[in-house]
Amino acid sequence: MQRPTLALNVVMLGPPGAGKGTQAERFARTHGLPKISTGDILREAVVAGTPMGQAATATMDAGELVGDEVMIEIVGERLTRPDTRPGFVLDGFPRTVAQATALDGIMDGRGALVVIDIVVPEEALLRRLAARRICGSCGVNAPVEWIAACGTCGGALVVRTDDGNGIVRERLRVYHRQTRPIVEFYSGRPTFRTIDGNQPPDVVTASMDGAIREVSVGPGEVRA
Ligand code: ADP
Repeated sequence: MQRPTLALNVVMLGPPGAGKGTQAERFARTHGLPKISTGDILREAVVAGTPMGQAATATMDAGELVGDEVMIEIVGERLTRPDTRPGFVLDGFPRTVAQATALDGIMDGRGALVVIDIVVPEEALLRRLAARRICGSCGVNAPVEWIAACGTCGGALVVRTDDGNGIVRERLRVYHRQTRPIVEFYSGRPTFRTIDGNQPPDVVTASMDGAIREVSVGPGEVRA
């Protein structure tokens, strides 16, 4: 008899600049899963000028968190779509214990969450965020090889509005105060793993793959 295949539901944790977005993107691509980045969803809403985007702009620019209710609604809706049935990679959510608690409710009966916490020392985060550029037109993160223009759409590279000096420090403060407690929330689970993010991106990708394989009992199957 064939065993039912469980979904591969991955949650990426880590401070701003830890490389969550890059690693989430790579993992999602190589495993054929949707990457759900709440930062990207909010930035798209800002660019599109939707009411949600307009309401979130000032909060994001100040480095503060958008309200739990809005975020839970966005992610709850996204996770009802059929493309998330085989699993997903969540980047930027949950960011508070209230969001993590709500996610457990949403996940009821959908299999375990594999939680990957990427750890990077604060000096390295500050250095990375100061150097980070994104495309001013399409918003993608620019890899170091891109000097002045976006390799995808040719747009000019710019500093993200919330990567400015004072705002970065505020985002790190917000991380320690509101997001770090989630690590405690998840750390007792058998599917929680910490990885060292202070290494070249390919090494981080390999250790993340290894960590996720370790908690999986077969391809796409995760021990609850
Ligand atoms: P980072 O580089 O800090 O990981 P993101 O792109 O994930 O940044 O998020 C950018 C901003 O979007 C955050 O500083 C915050 O204002 C808002 N945001 C994203 N995800 C959430 C969330 N889950 N809860 C509250 N606010 C969020």
